[in-house]
Amino acid sequence: MITDRITLGDVTITRVWEFYGPVAMTPETFFPESSPRAWEEHASWLEPHFVDPETRIVNAAIQTWLLRSEGRNILIDTGVGNHKERPYAPVWSRLDTGFLDNLARAGVRPEDVDLVVNTHLHVDHVGWNTYLDGRAWVPTFPNATYLMPKTDFDFWNPANEHEPLLGRGNQNVFEDSVAPVHEAGLTTLWEDSYTIDANLRLESAPGHTPGSSVVVLESGADRAVFVGDLLHSPVQLVEPDTNSCFCEDPAGARATRRKVLGWAADHNALVVPAHLGGQGAAEVRREGSGFAIKGWAPFAPHADSLEDAR
Ligand SMILES: [Zn+2]
Repeated sequence: MITDRITLGDVTITRVWEFYGPVAMTPETFFPESSPRAWEEHASWLEPHFVDPETRIVNAAIQTWLLRSEGRNILIDTGVGNHKERPYAPVWSRLDTGFLDNLARAGVRPEDVDLVVNTHLHVDHVGWNTYLDGRAWVPTFPNATYLMPKTDFDFWNPANEHEPLLGRGNQNVFEDSVAPVHEAGLTTLWEDSYTIDANLRLESAPGHTPGSSVVVLESGADRAVFVGDLLHSPVQLVEPDTNSCFCEDPAGARATRRKVLGWAADHNALVVPAHLGGQGAAEVRREGSGFAIKGWAPFAPHADSLEDAR
């Protein structure tokens, strides 16, 4: 059965789209270390959801995973957001999507959100933390606690003058999507690990960014791990040493990817990345030096396109 919502143990998981479509990069630019052979060999399931067979451009989703656990509404990652100025990331600049309408269709108004998890503080994971009210960026979810990894909070804070590999791709992001919720007293900055409730916990998973994290779900016999940007394409399951071009610490990203995917394979845990289109998530098993897809989640492969968002 194809659906927008599944239940694992005592937790329901709903896919809330921001958009889906081509991201202006070929596999070679997005994943410089991936082998052309992998894209050919696995074309039967990489195309068309993860790469367009005609244009050879990578397709990706921006989506939020809405969790209902112990009576609370929890958002994992908040996408790009509307009306943000992104001079060095034009693909994410000045969008106007119906994300909040999609969230409302899932039964949740902004004031109903209890917890926001930003797996890391990249441009496409914190956008809906805030919205533009007149000339001010204000918290979109006024009753929520926003959980942010302290390491990323410090790394991306422009006051600390770090020089990320991402260059200026995160320009304005801290100022318009992180600082306003922090100044409103809504953030909890955590380190190492953080227990959300009896079903969910955050764990550090550094590499993609210094503070990158994953949400581990263990409820009854069911397991899942929301991995953020541990991987951007399922090609990274079969070639787990392949990084995206956005990984700040390449060696750390590879080690963390292997560790988390290994845990998922050994515990029959659903792997739920931030950016997969198609059916959105998969169970994996160990195969050769990497992993293989054991089965896809039953999430419906549908979304508003990026073109509609402009
Ligand atoms: Zn991302």
